[in-house]
Amino acid sequence: MTGKISIRSVTAGPLAVNCYLVFNENIKHALVIDPGGDGPVILRMAKRYEVKISMIINTHGHCDHIGANSFIRDKTGAKIGIHKLDEPLLNNTLLNGAQRMCLACPPHTADFTFEDGDHLQVGGVTLKIIHTPGHTNGCCCFFIEGNDSDPPILFSGDTLFAGGIGRTDYYGGDEAAIYRSLKRLIEEIPPSTMVYPGHGPACNFGDESERNPFLLNLIK
Ligand SMILES: [Zn+2]
Ligand SMILES: [Zn+2]
Repeated sequence: MTGKISIRSVTAGPLAVNCYLVFNENIKHALVIDPGGDGPVILRMAKRYEVKISMIINTHGHCDHIGANSFIRDKTGAKIGIHKLDEPLLNNTLLNGAQRMCLACPPHTADFTFEDGDHLQVGGVTLKIIHTPGHTNGCCCFFIEGNDSDPPILFSGDTLFAGGIGRTDYYGGDEAAIYRSLKRLIEEIPPSTMVYPGHGPACNFGDESERNPFLLNLIK
């Protein structure tokens, strides 16, 4: 499929999650990653770029990443997908942290689940699911292959941040698992990859491998 892939983002919800709108400029059917809140703002962003939201996917089931899932589904008819191990978090405000953080997070269900190695296609964009447990059991990163003009892309959720990694002290967190997941990313992700995390600025995976203390620890 030809056509440039566009990534637009908005900082959504009270915990400032990066919500990404991803679309092929030739197709105009968009994917939304982690609509954590501020549903109307996300819809306005889609309108501004004249795209129809056809799919919503979550890197994991924490309330700050899923809070506007059902709002956007109700308004657009888009299907909601999440890793099968984090699906139970969607309708459990204890497990997804909404009760602890006193956040509004309407309980809801997924339309589909995915697993490691699955490929999702929407509007000329193909994402590969990389299951990266550790921050939660069902945490995933989403990878888009590069081409002649654009670098590969990784949506890293709360697994990898610029200069940091996700915490592992919430429900389903597992420190040994997140280190295994990061090691796998180091082995599989090309250094030229642009990383779009769940919080904070984007970064380059190669640069991150040379300066993120958590990755450096794994490499030596
Ligand atoms: Zn999280
Ligand atoms: Zn988060």
